[in-house]
Amino acid sequence: MPQKDNFTNYTVYFGDDLVPFANANLSVASSAVLYGLSVYTVFPVNKTKQGMAAFRLEDHFKRLLESAHILGIDTFAEKWDFESFKDAVTKLITENTITHDVFVRATVHVVDNVPGTRSRGLTSKLSMFIYPAKSILPNASARVKTSVWRRVPDNAIPARAKVNGAYVNSVLAKQDALDSGYDDCVFLDSAGHVCELSAANIFLVRNGVLITPNTTSDLLEGINRRTILTYAANLKIPVQERTVDLTELYIADEIFACGTSAYVTPITEVDSRTIGSGAPGPITSTFAAMHTKTLHGEQNQTEKFLTHLL
Ligand code: PMP
Repeated sequence: MPQKDNFTNYTVYFGDDLVPFANANLSVASSAVLYGLSVYTVFPVNKTKQGMAAFRLEDHFKRLLESAHILGIDTFAEKWDFESFKDAVTKLITENTITHDVFVRATVHVVDNVPGTRSRGLTSKLSMFIYPAKSILPNASARVKTSVWRRVPDNAIPARAKVNGAYVNSVLAKQDALDSGYDDCVFLDSAGHVCELSAANIFLVRNGVLITPNTTSDLLEGINRRTILTYAANLKIPVQERTVDLTELYIADEIFACGTSAYVTPITEVDSRTIGSGAPGPITSTFAAMHTKTLHGEQNQTEKFLTHLL
């Protein structure tokens, strides 16, 4: 079936079933709208030789549960388990006859009207919609700028939880970077250490060592970040997960961003400093090629990451 021109022509999983896109609406008085009280994830569903496959679906579901748990949105786990979630994703993909690479955004919304600033014991509703699998960064390479906005700290709004409302922090930082002519930002924490980009994790390579901020650096525990660490282990590349200084970025041999919507994108400029040779580095290019194969089921070693939606 040909690709639909507009993703709003697909049906959406909303609550308990598929509904037309135009019928998947939230009340203006819901906590989801009033406070951004929703948690979400985005995962790719790609074309493989054995049909459509979701990448690390169980990990995405687990992170969604964890985000809800951190916020106290307890009604999601009461209603959903991985099997029912997988069945809903399968229904969404098969009933929309998807046969090309797409992204699926799955969100748990708190839908009660004006319940006040609280989270426990409220009604939650799952929505899942399909949209084009398009990178948020230029494919060839990206130029980034240190954000004037600091990353939300764990003791204010935890970056570890993928909370819709917290993305105002990412919007501020990304828009600041765009306004300055860059492709994206590098977030620093309140002490000035490197966290991540607006919607992707960051890695650098220095003297053959792969370095990335550790998971207590006010960042989202990216599923692609974890996947890159698996590739590095398979290739026996030494890894350091630790606090990263901004100036380490300036003198890195290679830097890349990774994430569902960033894939593996080389970063060739930070704050007007050219990184390495100014061209994508060899380790970055190796990971990018491996990742494309992984997503499309063309690599035996990583086939375990795919859930075939039949
Ligand atoms: N950090 C942030 C802030 C993000 O929004 C994303 C995208 N979900 C990532 C990192 C990368 O996470 P993942 O690899 O799970 O897509």
